[in-house]
Amino acid sequence: MNNEKTKYIFVTGGVISGLGKGIAAASIGYLLKTRGFNVTIQKFDPYINVDPGTMSPYQHGEVYVLDDGAETDLDLGHYERFIDVNMSRINNTTTGQVYHEVISRERRGDYLGATVQVIPHITGEIKRRIAAVNESQKYDVVICEIGGTVGDIESLPFLEAIRQFSIETGRGNSITIHLTLVPYIETSGEMKTKPTQHSVMRLREIGIQPDILLCRTKYPLVDELRRKISLFCNVYPEAVIEALDADTIYEIPMHFNKQMIVEIISKQLNLPIRKGNLKDLESFVAKVKNPKHEVNIGICGKYTQLHDAYKSILESFIHAGVENDAKVNIKWIGAEELSSPEKAQAALQKVDGLLVPGGFGDRGVEGKILAITVARENKIPFFGICLGLQCAVIEFARNVCGLKDAHSHEFSEETTNPVVSLMEEQKEISTKGGTMRLGAYSATIEKKTKASKIYNEQIISERHRHRYEVNNKYLDILLANGLIIGAKNEELDLVEMIEIPDHPWFVACQFHPELKSRVSKAHPLFAHFVKASLNYKKTQK
Ligand code: GLN
Repeated sequence: MNNEKTKYIFVTGGVISGLGKGIAAASIGYLLKTRGFNVTIQKFDPYINVDPGTMSPYQHGEVYVLDDGAETDLDLGHYERFIDVNMSRINNTTTGQVYHEVISRERRGDYLGATVQVIPHITGEIKRRIAAVNESQKYDVVICEIGGTVGDIESLPFLEAIRQFSIETGRGNSITIHLTLVPYIETSGEMKTKPTQHSVMRLREIGIQPDILLCRTKYPLVDELRRKISLFCNVYPEAVIEALDADTIYEIPMHFNKQMIVEIISKQLNLPIRKGNLKDLESFVAKVKNPKHEVNIGICGKYTQLHDAYKSILESFIHAGVENDAKVNIKWIGAEELSSPEKAQAALQKVDGLLVPGGFGDRGVEGKILAITVARENKIPFFGICLGLQCAVIEFARNVCGLKDAHSHEFSEETTNPVVSLMEEQKEISTKGGTMRLGAYSATIEKKTKASKIYNEQIISERHRHRYEVNNKYLDILLANGLIIGAKNEELDLVEMIEIPDHPWFVACQFHPELKSRVSKAHPLFAHFVKASLNYKKTQK
């Protein structure tokens, strides 16, 4: 396909937000990939923040970090997990970035006296970014998801840009797929097409005619409804695709595939019709739905009310569950509720493994530390991620090394034992985000550790998003008391993983392994943690 033109699929959303546009885009990407096309996916977010890095997880859910350190929308996680391609900064653009770029150019005088306007300058920058994602020309198909809902003021420049882009790339080189909702009205027992008709009308008003409709629905779309939607929305009946609520998101590509979505897309984009199969995904989904075993994992964090804040961790547990033929039941443990050792003890009685995930700010930190004490003393499998590692080090320093006031400088400026602190060279940088260690760093695994068995590799690369580090001044005392280092960043001389040998599974990492788990390959740390928790469960019978 290499010498032919790149094809573009724009994915828009109507009626309401939260219909799963990101997963729909990722599913289509997955299907195209199984047919041998090289695919990438890009997301446009209409908010004015430059990136989600400064937003509260309650506002935005998880911040998904890429290898190059870009802090991006959690949909990028779905893209990477489904199509198994490592993305980069250009795969996620926000209104903030677009304006930032245009205003910087204006200040430099690049516009040579012109009046700078939404059209053509903002739309021009958006189009530049659509093209830039395939600068290397390695992709056959670029899928481009427009965040927000059609009809929002914020997304208008993006929609105008894709309208122009489609015309400029010529007939047969781009299509628009629009995701809508066909609600079911309980009282009358009817499914309604009007919201879909109206949202398509909004799109057509601004010059975009969808080529395919994905209709989110609770019940199957009967032929009569399909015909009605087709007629009123100007979309061929076979291109009105039913997007039925699914038991697991990994089933969605299978639903779409049955309705011949790839053949329809291929015809519309003049792509060769290729064969492919979904055997791997089918066996994955079969395992998700019919697991042999079951295990309870406690996640002790402070955003437990909003599960999107831990999206990648939850998906990683699904992947790891499949590898262990087990269903992983997540038990949320609100860290702030653990106000005494007794409460921590009681909370951990219900679980076979404890995960303390990443986080910022001191809320709930003492509860996490109490939970870790229980896991360490009772030999319950423990997995610490980022702040989870930092809490484990504080716990060990306080309760095993006897450094009673051990703490992180993030939470206590006064502590005389800052076992977690900023590196010297970070201290002078004051811009928010400026001191963060972001993106991929490699680490060397220490021999004869659990880490070496888990990874079975000497050098690993994992993604980071944190400001504080284990304070090397305390390494001697930590190691003398039995903690061991699982992995180190040799170049920066930083601890990357720790473990306790005299424990069935007490492993923590400074990086975020959940960002590298894939449908096709569970992350080994999650897979081994689930395995250890299953073993723990057996011993409890
Ligand atoms: N707040 C800690 C730090 O900045 C941990 C961050 C995280 O868990 N992502 O170092």
